[in-house]
Parts: sequence; structure tokens; C-alpha cells
Amino acid sequence: MSQLQEELVVLRERLALHDSDRQATTTQLQNQVENLKEKLISQAQEVSRLRSELGGTDVEKHRDRLMVENEQLRQELRRCEAELQELRAQPVVPCQGCEHSQESTQLRDRLSQLQLEVAENKGMLSELNLEVQQKTDRLAEVELRLKDCLAEKAQEEERLSRRLRDSHETIASLKAQSPPVKYVIKTVEVESSKTKQALSESQTRNQHLQEQVAMQRQVLKEMEQQLQNSHQLTIQLRAQIAMYEAELERAHGQMLEEMQSLEEDKNRAIEEAFARAQVEMKAVHENLAGVRTNLLTLQPALRTLTNDYNGLKRQVRGFPLLLQEALRSVKAEIGQAIEEVNSNNQELLRKYRRELQLRKKCHNELVRLKGNIRVIARVRPVTKEDGEGPEATNAVTFDPDDDSIIHLLHKGKPVSFELDKVFSPWASQQDVFQEVQALITSCIDGFNVCIFAYGQTGAGKTYTMEGTPENPGINQRALQLLFSEVQEKASDWQYNITVSAAEIYNEVLRDLLGKEPQEKLEIRLCPDGSGQLYVPGLTEFQVQSVDDINKVFEFGYNNRTTEFTNLNEHSSRSHALLIVTVRGVDCSTGLRTTGKLNLVDLAGSERVGKSGAEGNRLREAQHINRSLSALGDVIAALRSRQGHVPFRNSKLTYLLQDSLSGDSKTLMVVQVSPVEKNTSETLYSLKFAERVRSVELGPGSRRTELGSWSSQEHLEWEPACQTPQPTARAHSAPGSGTSSRPGSIRRKLQPSA
Ligand code: ADP
Ligand code: MG
Repeated sequence: MSQLQEELVVLRERLALHDSDRQATTTQLQNQVENLKEKLISQAQEVSRLRSELGGTDVEKHRDRLMVENEQLRQELRRCEAELQELRAQPVVPCQGCEHSQESTQLRDRLSQLQLEVAENKGMLSELNLEVQQKTDRLAEVELRLKDCLAEKAQEEERLSRRLRDSHETIASLKAQSPPVKYVIKTVEVESSKTKQALSESQTRNQHLQEQVAMQRQVLKEMEQQLQNSHQLTIQLRAQIAMYEAELERAHGQMLEEMQSLEEDKNRAIEEAFARAQVEMKAVHENLAGVRTNLLTLQPALRTLTNDYNGLKRQVRGFPLLLQEALRSVKAEIGQAIEEVNSNNQELLRKYRRELQLRKKCHNELVRLKGNIRVIARVRPVTKEDGEGPEATNAVTFDPDDDSIIHLLHKGKPVSFELDKVFSPWASQQDVFQEVQALITSCIDGFNVCIFAYGQTGAGKTYTMEGTPENPGINQRALQLLFSEVQEKASDWQYNITVSAAEIYNEVLRDLLGKEPQEKLEIRLCPDGSGQLYVPGLTEFQVQSVDDINKVFEFGYNNRTTEFTNLNEHSSRSHALLIVTVRGVDCSTGLRTTGKLNLVDLAGSERVGKSGAEGNRLREAQHINRSLSALGDVIAALRSRQGHVPFRNSKLTYLLQDSLSGDSKTLMVVQVSPVEKNTSETLYSLKFAERVRSVELGPGSRRTELGSWSSQEHLEWEPACQTPQPTARAHSAPGSGTSSRPGSIRRKLQPSA
């Protein structure tokens, strides 16, 4: 029992302990609940404060304010637009080109720019409105959620207080039932843990709610910030609008000012114009008065003029008839004049032709008087080839007063000769050419000309005829002269110049320009019965310039160099002929002329002794001597005007028959070597020259001259001119005068008609 009592005491003590414990826990819990309640209240207050602080009403207010501002801005804009319209509607003062119009367009541009900006601002404003609306909606949502949270919290509080109450009641009942203290304690313990859990749950929820509130606050803050931003933007926009308005105002003011000034200008101009017009008007009035008085005085004059005019009109009516008559008579006169001119022309043409004939006749006469065969000598200078010593000394001298005399010292004996002209070694190519120039130009007039270079080998024949490329001789100069002369006459005459080149070697005629230089050419009578000669197959090149001639010469030269191994030697033993034919037509009369220029570089005239030559050389020498003798004979016969001229005695004379006979002209250039060792050949050449020249007219002298010619100079050879050939006679017309040979004249003067 005591044990039980002891136990009971222990239990009571323990119960008291528990009791006190529970009491403490309960008070603690109550305190906690109190605290929670306080917290809840404070939170509710906070929430309500927040609501009142930032709640929908504030935002709404702000929004309303913004909307009002917006509305105000819209109204302002509308006002501005209306003003603008008004301004636009105002009549534009026509002041084109003035500086105001430019300014006004600038202002207008600025205005449209401002309008654009206003429209942009409007867009921005509406965007902001939309944003504000969205934010308001979100705020309402947040409020709703807050309300829900508060309701939940209230419910939870209620539940908790209910449970607290239940716990109190349970404790009370436990107190009443002391035996099952253990259980009660246990239950309390269990209950207490449950409460704790509930408390912790509510605490976490509370925390969660607090977090949400904080989040909401953050959102609210952000929104506030945004609102503030939009507010600032609105302020900015308003400031801009104000600025634009001010600018608009200013522009408007400027425009008004300009309009005013323009108006003033206009008025001023009108006034000035008016004043000017008045002055002018006055002057016009005065003029008018003058004109009136003039008119009054002019009226009688007008009357007389009208009378005159009527008279003239009557005359004019009769004018066509008069004109016709005048025309008829003038036509008749002109016709008559033309006829007269025509007949005059005919007469002139006839006279011209007669003059031409006369000129020709006179020329022939002149040639006859002067002698159509002239002989000149040209002495070449002493050259290196002449060597040195007594043999190479000069043996030729000249007469300072007479250029036709030449003196030769032969074997110590002085011999003198008189020719038509003597050229000293100092004479240039041009000097020599000057002497023959007239002959060459006569070729254009239709005369035949022969120029021979005669002399021993090395005396300068080729130099005189061909010359050197730098210093050309007669050949090239002659052609050049022909070209220039022909060109000068080109307005009246048409000319055609051709050249042929041939050589005669051992009495064989060859074409130097032909494709077959070996071919022997024959001289034939023209089949037309004209008595003229021609060489079938002889190449003729038409030339128009010096270049053409050079080409022709080069071609001929190449032909000869391929043909003969020693051209120099061959050249000195053959006669080289350049035959230039000039054919012309007189454009006005149709008269045709043909002139032939024969330029002959003869073979060397040196004599070869019978004993010193054999075979080919002897044959060559014989041919050369025969042909040169024949040439001398022909010239002698021509100068002495013999009935018969032995042209056919050599190929050379036969070929040149046309150019030696008739009114042809011949020039013999006798080339002379001046040195001592050549004096015997020089003497021979000069004797030949003098004889050719001194063949005189008159049958007696003629015969003696001819006799001495043949016997003295060609003792070693058969006289070449002794057997005249019947064929030659046949086409050298009979009669005493060569100038009347019909063949040659016919050839040179043939009118085309
Ligand atoms: P040919 O033809 O009579 O045999 P060339 O004309 O060949 O003689 O002349 C012989 C040499 O004398 C050549 O070298 C030539 O240049 C020269 N010669 C001839 N005549 C003159 C002159 N008047 N002036 C200068 N040199 C000349
Ligand atoms: Mg020569």
C-alpha cells in the first residue's frame, strides 16, 4: 500500500511536473498563436496598406490622368491641324521665283515633317495607353489573388483557433479524468506534435504568401517604374509638341509677315505702274494729236499716191506683154551672140591650128638655120685610174673667151678644134643637161630627138648619160623634166610616156627589158604602109614617175648583169639605147603628137689595130667601127641634105632612122679624156666631131667632105656608106628637103578627127 502510495506520490509529482510542463507548452503555444495572429493582422494591415498605397485606385488615377493628358494632346493636335488647314487654304500670293516662295516651301516641308512626328507620337501614346490598360488588368488579377490568399488565411486561422479550443477542452477533460494521465499526456504529446506540424505548415504557407506579396510588390514597383517612364515620355512629347507649335507659330508669323511685305510690294508696284502708265498715256495722247495733224496733212499726199498707184496698176497690167516682147528680142539677141561666138570660136580654132602649123614651120626653119645636128665636147677630169707620171699629165686646154674652142697638145703639137660647145672638166651634170634641155622638151611637141655619147672607153660616156645615183646624168634628168613638163600641160594635154631599153652588140639588137634578153630582135616596116619602122617584141614600159623609171633601169641592169660576166667590158663594146616615147592628145582640138627621145651610150670608139686583135675581139671591133662609121655617114648625109641617107648600113642607124631624119634633132656629145696617153684617141674623136659638125650644104663641098670622111677615118675597113640599099631608099621619100618627109610629119601631127 505504501508502495502504492509512494508510487502515487511519484506519479503525482510527475503529473505536476507534466502539468507544469504542459502549462508552459500551452502558454508557449498560446503565445505563438498570439504572435501569429498579430503577424496575420499586421500582414493584413500591410496588404490593405499596400492596396491603398498602390492598389487599383492609384494606378487607375494615374491612368485617368494620362488619358486626360492624352485627350488634351489630341485636342491640341486637332487644333494644330485645323490651323494648318487654314494656312493651306489661305491664297498663295503669286511671287514665283522670289525668296519667300522658297522659304514657304521650306516651312511647308518642315510642317509636314512635324506632322509626321506628331503622328509618330500619337502612335507611341496609343501604345502607352495599351500598356497602362494591360497593367491595370494585371493589377486587378493580383488583387483577386490577394483576396483569395487572405480568405484562405482567415480559414486557416479559424481552423487553428478551433483546434486550439479543442486542445483546451481536451486538457480540461484530462484534468478531470486523472487516471489515464499517461494517455492524456501521451495524447497531449501527440496532439502537441500535430499542432506543431500544423503550425509549421501554416508558417511555410505564411512564408509563401509573404514571398508572393514581395513578388507582387516587385511587380508593382516595376509597373510604377514603367508608369514613371511613360510619364516622362509624355512630358517629352508634350515638350516636343510645344516646340513644334512654337515653330509652327513662328513659321505662320513669318508667312504672315512675308505676305504682308508682298502685299506692300504689290501695292507699290501697282502704284508705280499706274503712275508710269499715266505718263505714257499722256505721251501717247500727245503723239496721237501729232499723228492726227500729220494725217490731215497726209491725206492729199495719199490721194496723189492712190492716183499714182492706179496709174501703175494699169501699166503693170500691160507688163507681161511687154516682158514677153522684151524676152523674145533678148532671146533672139542672145542666139545671135551665141552664133557669133561660135563662129568666132571656129575661127579662133582654125587660127590656132594655123598658128600651130606655123609655129612648127618656124621651129623647123629655126632648127634648119641653127642646124638640127649639134656637136658638143665634154672633157672629163683627170682621175686616179689615169695613173701618175708623164702619161697622166693633162693635154687639153680651153679658150677662156670662147667656149666652143678646145686645144689639144698631141705629140708636142698643139691642135685646136671648134665645136658647138665645149664643156671643161669642171662642168657639172646640170650644166651639160642645161645644154640639152631644149631638145628634150621639144620631144613633148612631137619632135624626135637623138642624143649620142661618143668617145673612147673611159672618156665619160656612161657618166654623162647615166651618171651616178647621187649625181644622175642626162637619162634620168630628161625623164624628170618630161614628167614635170607634162604635168604643167596637164590641163590642156593628156600624155602617155613609155620607155624601152635595147642594146646593139655585134649588129644584133636585144631587148634589155624583155623576159628573153638573148632573143634577137628584128627591125620591120609597119604593115600599114606608112613607111614607119617598128621592132616587134621590144618591151615598152609605161612610166609615170621617177620611181617607175628607177625600177625600169634596175630591171634592165639586173638583166644585163645576169647575162654578162664582165658587164663593163661588154658595155664598152655595145651600144646602149634608152628610147622614150611621149604620146600626147590636145584635149581641146584632139590633135595627137608623138615624140621620141633616143638616148644612146655608144660603144667605145677606140681603134683596134689589125695585128692587136683576133677572134671575138676583132669581130667586135669590126662591128663597132662599122656602126660608128655608118652613124657618121648618116649624120653627114643628113647635114649635107643628100637625097640618099644610108640608114640601113647599120642596125643602129636603121633603128634610129625615124629619129634622125626629117625635122628630128640630133646632139652628139663627144667625150674626151684629157690625159697625155689618150691624146691620139682624143684627136681621133675630136676630128670625128668636127667633121660631123662641119658637113656643109652644097653638093660640091658635101661630096668632098664625105669623100675625106670615108677614106681617112675608115682606111682599115670597108667604107660603110658606099652601097646605098634600095629598101632604105624606098621609105626615105625622094626629094631634096628632109623637112618635107611625109612619113615623120604624119606621125607627129595627126588630128583625131
Ligand atoms: P665610158 O662610159 O666612156 O667608158 P665612164 O663614164 O665609165 O666612161 O667614165 C670613166 C670614169 O671616169 C668613171 O669612173 C667615171 O666616174 C669618171 N668620170 C667620167 N666623166 C667624169 C666627170 N665629168 N666628172 C667626174 N668623173 C667622171
Ligand atoms: Mg661606158
